[in-house]
This record gives sequence, C-alpha cells and structure tokens, in this order.
Amino acid sequence: MNNPIPVTCSSMPTLNEYIEELKDLWESKTLTNDGVKHMELERALADYLETVNVSLFTNGHLALEYILEVFQLNGEVITTPFTFASTTHAIVRKGLTPVFADINPNDYTMQTDNLESLITEKTTAIMPVHVYGNVCDVAEIERIAEKYSLKVIYDAAHAFGITVKGESIANFGDASMFSFHATKVFNTIEGGALTYKDSSLKNVIDAYKNFGITGSEIIDYIGGNGKMNEFQAAMGLCNLRYVDREIQKRKAVYERYIENLSGIDGIRLPYIQKEVASNYSYFPVLFDGIKISRDEIQYELMKQGIHSRKYFYPLTNKLECYKSKFTHNHTPVAQQISEKVLTLPLYADLQLDDVDRICSIIKRHFNSLTLTASKGDIPI
Ligand SMILES: *Cc1c(COP(=O)(O)O)cnc(C)c1O
Repeated sequence: MNNPIPVTCSSMPTLNEYIEELKDLWESKTLTNDGVKHMELERALADYLETVNVSLFTNGHLALEYILEVFQLNGEVITTPFTFASTTHAIVRKGLTPVFADINPNDYTMQTDNLESLITEKTTAIMPVHVYGNVCDVAEIERIAEKYSLKVIYDAAHAFGITVKGESIANFGDASMFSFHATKVFNTIEGGALTYKDSSLKNVIDAYKNFGITGSEIIDYIGGNGKMNEFQAAMGLCNLRYVDREIQKRKAVYERYIENLSGIDGIRLPYIQKEVASNYSYFPVLFDGIKISRDEIQYELMKQGIHSRKYFYPLTNKLECYKSKFTHNHTPVAQQISEKVLTLPLYADLQLDDVDRICSIIKRHFNSLTLTASKGDIPI
C-alpha cells in the first residue's frame, strides 16, 4: 500500500537552522517577555504584512479574545457559523452574543446583502471570517460598519500573506487576527497575532496580554497572560524566510488539483476571487452532485490512507455546547456547504504524483457510479 497522506503537514526549517536561531537564548537566558526574538519577529511581520501595528500572542484564539476585551465590547457581535469553533467561542467566552449571518454560496465568506437586517441596538461589532484563502467583501463590510459605528474584527486565521488589489489583508477593519498554529501557512508552532488600525492601542494590547502591567509598579488593566515565548518567535523567524517559497509550492499543488478535477459533473472546485493574491491555504471541494455524497468520498480516500477533512462541519451554530443558548439563526447556505464540502490534503511538500493519485481515486469513484447509474440501479 502507498504511504498514508495527511490532510496537512507543518512547514519547518532544518533542525540546524532552528538550533542556530536558538543559540542566542542560551546566552541571554531571556526566554519570554519581549525578548529579542519576539521583537525581531514583530518587526519582520509588520514588514511582511505591510502593516504598522502587530502584537504577537500565544495563539490566534487568545488574540481574538483579547481584542474583544480591549475594545470593551458588549451586546451582540455579527459573525458567521461557517468557521472553526474558535471564532464563536471567543465571542461567547467574552460574554457577548453571536448573531449568525449566512455565507455567500461561491466564496463562503459573510453574505453582506442582508447584513443590515441583523443589526439591532445591541450590536457592537462584526466578526467576519476570511475563509480558505478567500477574502470577505471588505469594502461593503466597512461601509456598513461605518454607517452603524460598529467595530470590525476579522478572523484572518486562514489569510496570512493575502493581498486584495495589492493591499495587505492585515489592513482592513479595526483589527485582524492571524493564527500561526502548526497547521497554518505560516507557523510559530502555536502562535498568533493581531494587526490593528489604531496605533495608540499598541501599549494597551501589549499590557492586556501581560497581566495588565503598564509600569514597574502599575497594573492598569485586568489583563491575562497571552504572551508569545522566544522559542515560538524563533521558529517564526526561521519559517518566515521560506513562506513565499512555501506558498509557491502550495500553488503548484492547488493547480494540479484543478487540472485533475475540472470539468467533472458533481465536483465544484474552489472559487477563485479576482484581484486577490491567495495563499492557497486549503483546497475545498464541494460534492454537490446528487449521485455522490461527501462522506462516501471521504471514506473511499480513507480506505487508501488519504486523510481529508470535513472543514467546516458542523457549523458553529449547530455545536452541542450551544444547544440551549442564544438564537441560532437560519443560515441555509452555510448549512448546505458544510454538508457537502471536503478539504483535500494540501501542504507545500505534497508531491504532485500524490495529488494525481488522490484525484484518480475520486475520479474512479465518480466513473463507477456513473456507469452503474446509467444501468438504472442507482436511485437519483
Ligand atoms: C486556526 C484557526 C483559529 C484559531 O487559531 P489558533 O492559533 O489555533 O488558536 C481561529 N479561527 C480559524 C478560522 C482558524 O482556522
């Protein structure tokens, strides 16, 4: 049997390069709290993301929780259920009420057509999610937010390095959260960052993630601990050197999938947004034919040792833990997509002949079904 293929695989520098990067730490013995690596990575990321304000965090999820706290939000936050649990959990864990907008049927980001109808006098913010490497309608969201004086916080966990009409994704809304989790396009093992518009927030955000400490004997805020340590930052410095190359390799994998799978009735390939330079973070396929279900394909792949992921399923407004909490809102498009979508293996080092193998399993299954279907023994 062929080697198993994971759905994702972390980008890593060579061990030697990482060790080299860590050597200073054995001399300085500063392992966290704004060490050299932390400062260096923050600067390097501001540079790479073409943005001004960056604050690093232990992970992306905490970054989301902290920004909700720093903005002192209350009441309702409009978001979408087609996301990782983290987005909705952050809202709920900070004592806010999520209100779920549906998603667009093509790019799976927040639908803006009826967004205004969800705004009440309790609404204080919008938390849209850039999904898979696709970007929200940032212009329309900005227009609506301005009209109703709402904060916009993007969950940009999937969106590292993306540009829209040449503008960095880090520069939209009041703040954006990036995740540097091991499985993301750019990783610091675990880790995350906020980018934000208002430069005067830098000291506040950085104090919040360090117990609210603002001076040697002064604690101005009831902060927590969300700091990124030096080992994480060192990993980030190494990985950042190769991230462009990694994105190019992902692109080749992505294009190989498209080559293999286009023109098949019942397979919908990822939507490609114009004027967006993607980071090719995921390869979502929609099995929207009536003959075949997403679960069958996942099972066929699994039998051959190939891991795929129902991502995002279930929707966050369908999670067990939210069963008797708040209104779940009717989000029929998100519901349909979550029942049909499968993300296929995608990482920089995935071999192109493995992509061919994955696709041939999918195609073989489609063909065999079409054959039996034409014999008339498959109910359609
Ligand atoms: C990964 C991810 C998060 C959480 O980030 P962590 O760094 O793992 O805490 C939040 N939202 C989305 C959409 C994600 O994919």
